[in-house]
Amino acid sequence: MSKQIDVLVIGAGPAGSVSAAMVHKAGLSVRVVEREKFPRFVIGESLLPRCMEVLEDAEFLDAVKAKNFQQKFGAKFMKEDKVSDFNFSDQFSKGWTWTWQVQRAEFDLTLITDVQRRGVPVDFETTVTAIAFNEDESSVTTVEHKDGTTETIEARFIIDASGYGRVIPRLFNLDKPSNLDPRKAVFAHVQDVHRNNHDEPNRIIAVMYAPGVWSWIIPFSTGVTSLGFVGSFDYFNAMGGDQASQFRTFIDGNAYLKQRFGDVEWVFEPRKLEAWSATTDKFYGKGFVLTGNVTEFLDPIFSSGVMFATVSSHIASKMVIRKLKGENVDWDNDYTNFIRQGVDTFRTYVMAWYDGTLEKIFFSKNPDPEIKRQICSVLAGYVWDQDNAYVKDHAQSLKRLVKLIDIQERLDAL
Ligand code: FAD
Repeated sequence: MSKQIDVLVIGAGPAGSVSAAMVHKAGLSVRVVEREKFPRFVIGESLLPRCMEVLEDAEFLDAVKAKNFQQKFGAKFMKEDKVSDFNFSDQFSKGWTWTWQVQRAEFDLTLITDVQRRGVPVDFETTVTAIAFNEDESSVTTVEHKDGTTETIEARFIIDASGYGRVIPRLFNLDKPSNLDPRKAVFAHVQDVHRNNHDEPNRIIAVMYAPGVWSWIIPFSTGVTSLGFVGSFDYFNAMGGDQASQFRTFIDGNAYLKQRFGDVEWVFEPRKLEAWSATTDKFYGKGFVLTGNVTEFLDPIFSSGVMFATVSSHIASKMVIRKLKGENVDWDNDYTNFIRQGVDTFRTYVMAWYDGTLEKIFFSKNPDPEIKRQICSVLAGYVWDQDNAYVKDHAQSLKRLVKLIDIQERLDAL
């Protein structure tokens, strides 16, 4: 067994890189273990402005800027000829007004390479297979390297940033089903040669396709665009066929998508992902904290995944540092409740997206500019701003707004 380290980070996605960078910056010893060889493909390409604060504090901004990723200034929602456009510079909360749209293989590699450059050891193709926690909260983790050899790593604390791997929840039976309906996505990267005729690339576009079915368009700076379709299992089952034929049917079934993507080359054959929403009983325990997707991943609609991955890791790693330096920390209040509040805000918006509430709001005639600014802040990831009624009182505020829109529509019809 090697010498005890302060912190073991499981996973080298954005959550793992932010955690490792913060712990290293505080002068503690940290090691990262990652199951895959990087660069590796992962979905989740449109970031939110709120994660820029974390990338800045973890000192990643220069490394990411050097990659010339596509800048993102807003989000656009479309249904047939109706368009609702949100520009982050109009948002209510104070904060970043832009972010990036990134090919995640390259983005994640950039972050973890920068972590290594600072002197943090990172073991790729190394999988965590078992963890034993000691009475004093330290732990012994067994990992398996690519060549089949195993190693044990002794650490004072573990940050589990293993994303869909969900290492600690799986090993210790902490997983809990999400209260969101299971959904499925089919997606690919495509050559977006008609981009300029249709749309600027500095936005994510969500196209409402059919009730409960939608499409994402995430342009990259290379001229390639990520195109994906999300819907219920029933919808996909009714379509029949394989992923490629479903992807083709989706494109051909919508006038805007057909015009823009009907005749373009696909960079890779369409892939699928399904039933991604999961959560866990607890976000922390004796000797460990969960960050990023391991805590809870809701739904792709508002691109909140990397924002939660970075923000949760930022907060958790700062608390781990304080704890290892001998301070008392209040995990329930300062971590679990804080993250849950942000997640619950987005959950309301995800549900409102699928039940048609947001469609009414986004495409209402003469939307109130101040309310639009407040909703824009949610879409930018500022879901902890208690001055924003559409955060503080998220569910009630949306309900009230829809009622007002209904009344206005009835008055207009008189
Ligand atoms: P990950 O990026 O998954 O990284 C975890 C790492 O842990 C992986 O590299 C994995 O190999 C490693 N690992 C796993 N198990 C082990 C193990 N046993 N030992 C060692 N290492 C291990 N988010 C957005 O922000 N924007 C979007 O537009 C967006 N679109 C999405 C579309 C779909 C269809 C889905 C399903 C999700 C989308 N997301 C999006 C969410 C996004 O994919 C995740 O939220 C994000 O990748 C979470 O980052 P992470 O660092 O927590 O985990």
